[in-house]
Amino acid sequence: MTVEDGGDLAGVPDGFGRLWVPHRMAYIGGENKDGCAFCRAPERSDEESLIVTRGTTAYALLNLYPYNGGHVLVCPYRHVADYTDLTTDEMIEVAELTRTAMTVLRAVSGPDGFNLGMNQGAVAGAGIAAHLHQHVVPRWAGDANFLPIVGRTRALPELLADTRARLAAAWPVAEERH
Ligand SMILES: [Zn+2]
Repeated sequence: MTVEDGGDLAGVPDGFGRLWVPHRMAYIGGENKDGCAFCRAPERSDEESLIVTRGTTAYALLNLYPYNGGHVLVCPYRHVADYTDLTTDEMIEVAELTRTAMTVLRAVSGPDGFNLGMNQGAVAGAGIAAHLHQHVVPRWAGDANFLPIVGRTRALPELLADTRARLAAAWPVAEERH
């Protein structure tokens, strides 16, 4: 299985090819291509689904189609599409997981900035429009190199399995509410 054939693993396809710098991929394919990837991901192990942490109403996983190394997605467990569909508890936990993802990514890989956001609806660019997901994309100065422009390909210096393990290890045990 190639990187671009993600099976039913969770991620948001974006039409870019990807040049993976390491030589070997560590993906485990799914057995069923039906259903929603964000609903199915929590049914598998953290390693299989690239889940970084599991909360009470929401969880965080790596995007199978990262814009950058450490591209995290925060999703409610419930299959809801729109931000206004979230319960207050889900809204708070999605926000808390987003905040913690920034803290963890800063500690692990020292990005210079982040893009945060949700694409609401396919017309707005949501790859999996039916299941809400918040993007947490770490950015580094100079990370937008020539490859996305010339080759529709992104260079990613670390395997997703390794990124997941580093973020999961650095994730605090319990979410702290301020
Ligand atoms: Zn879903």
